[in-house]
Order: sequence, then structure tokens, then C-alpha cells
Amino acid sequence: MFFLGHMVWAYVWAAMFAGKRNGKLSVPTVLMLGIAPDIDLFLRGFGVLHHTFTHSFFFWFIMFAPFFAVFRGRSFPYFVAVAQHFAFGDFIVGNVMIFWPFSLSYFGFNMAMLSMLDVALETAGLLLAAGISYFKEDLRRMLSIDIHNLLMFLPLLAMLVSMLVLAVDLPIVPLVAYIWSRKLLTTIVLGHIVLVIFLALSTLQGLRRLFQHFHP
Ligand SMILES: [Zn+2]
Repeated sequence: MFFLGHMVWAYVWAAMFAGKRNGKLSVPTVLMLGIAPDIDLFLRGFGVLHHTFTHSFFFWFIMFAPFFAVFRGRSFPYFVAVAQHFAFGDFIVGNVMIFWPFSLSYFGFNMAMLSMLDVALETAGLLLAAGISYFKEDLRRMLSIDIHNLLMFLPLLAMLVSMLVLAVDLPIVPLVAYIWSRKLLTTIVLGHIVLVIFLALSTLQGLRRLFQHFHP
């Protein structure tokens, strides 16, 4: 799954588990946690293989243990945001070492990136995230002149970097393997553009608040 799908589904799953506390959910944090397991892409130089320990429940349970101890239930939606990355996204579109270190086998449905199902899932996630954020008032919060929205710069940067990497290094996606690839590619590119524009607008609103602070 692309960063697009990981981010929008992180929001959808976290919002579902946040319940009434939704108004206080830090959306930029949720979006960054949604892609956090892919930190292993930067650890290749250290011999770390993609989809291994950073895509396991055990690893993130240990990472979250201090937060569970201090914040208890309030940290759960954030754990869900990171767990859905490998228990939902990469589990369907790929396969992961989800039970590391207890099992070093890869589990998942192994659907390919840019397959019909992948693009359908990512698009559905984007639409669901838009709908849920509208009804839960997160959309209004993210587009208001609020200093917290400055943090949207992080997921924005991550999206831009991932798009750059994919544009340069496309062979990792078997583009020609699918008859529908052109329509699917167009759809996924449009999805990326929509999310990037939204994150940019939100970041801009954060910047406006910062500007107001210095020029009241
Ligand atoms: Zn991943």
C-alpha cells in the first residue's frame, strides 16, 4: 500500500477507536504513525529487510508500553493507527512478519501495489477519511487557523518524498502487469494530489496562525 492508503486508513481506524475523545485526536500524529513501520526502508543500510520487525505487533507493543502505562486508553487510537499499517494495509497488499519474533514467517494476502484491490482500498480509505473527518468535525479543525496544524508539515513532507521516490524508482511497482494499470495509476495519482493539497492547506493554516503570533 502507498503512504496515501496507510495515512488515510490510519485516520479512519484511529477515529473509529477514539470514540467520544475524537475531538482531541492529533491527526498529524495519527498520519505519521500510519506510515511509521516503513521506517525500515531507511534501515536497509544496516541490513534490515522491509516488512520485518517494524511490521510486527510485538515491536510496537514494546514501543507503546510507556504510553499505555502513562496515558492508558487514550493512547489506544494511536496504537491502532500504527497497527493497521501492517495488520490491515500491508497484510492485504503485501505480506509481513506480523508475529515477529515468535514467527519469522511472512503473513498476508500478498495483493500487489497498484492492483485493482489496492487502488480500490486506497480510494475507499480517502473517501471514508473525508466523510468521517467531516462528521467528526476534524475537517473543520484541520482547516482552521490553528498552530497545531503546523505539524501537518510532517505528513506533507512524507507524502512528497514518497511521490518523488516512486517517480524516480517506479520499477518497484510492476506497472505493466495489469491491464487496468493506466486507469489505476491515474486514480492513485489523483488520490495523492488530493491528499497533498489538503495537507498543504492545513499546514498553511498553521503557518497563518504562527504569522499572526508575530504580527498581531
Ligand atoms: Zn509497510
